Amino acid sequence: MSINQINQGSSSEQVSESSQHPMSSIAKGSLYIVATPIGNLGDISQRALDVLSQVDLIACEDTRHTQKLLANFSIKNKTLSLHDHNERQRQEYIADLLSQGQSIALVSDAGTPLISDPGFHVVRYCRQQQLSVVPVPGACAAITALSVAGLPTDRFTFEGFLPSKQGARKSTLAALANESRTMVFYDAPRRAIDTVTDIVDELGGQRHIVLARELTKTFETIYADSAENLLAWLKQDPNQLKGEMVLIIEGHQIDPTAIPPEAEKALRLLVNEMPKKKACGIVAELYGIKKNKLYDLTIAM
Ligand code: SAM
Repeated sequence: MSINQINQGSSSEQVSESSQHPMSSIAKGSLYIVATPIGNLGDISQRALDVLSQVDLIACEDTRHTQKLLANFSIKNKTLSLHDHNERQRQEYIADLLSQGQSIALVSDAGTPLISDPGFHVVRYCRQQQLSVVPVPGACAAITALSVAGLPTDRFTFEGFLPSKQGARKSTLAALANESRTMVFYDAPRRAIDTVTDIVDELGGQRHIVLARELTKTFETIYADSAENLLAWLKQDPNQLKGEMVLIIEGHQIDPTAIPPEAEKALRLLVNEMPKKKACGIVAELYGIKKNKLYDLTIAM
């Protein structure tokens, strides 16, 4: 059993919606993964503020950035830098402090740590060491964008940032062309025109996209249209290339009336061996396709 399971209680324990972590006291030896706002400071949670003010140390992606956030809430606390380049060196140090009973918060510059942000190595290491890792949830740009995109959310994939080099970006998109789930991407606005151009090339101009820019901030913009219309809109308004953005792409829609390639292949083989009517009957039976659709296809052949 990991420490987290102990913290969360045994399965026989009654768990209700109102079950809460005791907030008045920070658990000794715990690593708190604390989400911070993605723009609007009003989105920080009371629990995040409590944890940030009570832990012994805050590990942050950029100490100056986090000190500004803390100053906004009149929180004074010690910080330690923890970014992509020193995370692996710091993981043992952090685990040692936790083992000595210190409590530590881990934050990134914005949103939920580890989501296209540092923290994965530290969390994995701490869990391997059976140390307690506690989530303090809050804003995340991907989920915030999904919540307003109007695209299916029952299943989706988070793709993070696309490669910056065009060749790699295009092959990543090509590999996703038949992905039927909604796809969520982070993107840098300076690359947005290149990205959307590649989306048009690889997924087609008619693919539906939602661009969610500057979420929770003054210039929050949510634009939903076909990929080609989005591209035209971005090109005619340079203001849309500022700030931060999430792109949400509708999954590949399968046409229920389309004839799958394997059925077409079977039909091609069979019409050479038997009357068209019989060939269509067999393929219709095998693939559950209407006979008249197959017959039309044999005429086109
Ligand atoms: N950990 C963060 C989260 O939980 O969303 C994401 C960090 S990642 C380094 C930064 C990217 O998130 C930005 O380039 C942008 O794609 C997206 N992002 C962050 N804040 C945003 C906002 N307010 N509006 C739109 N996109 C945002």
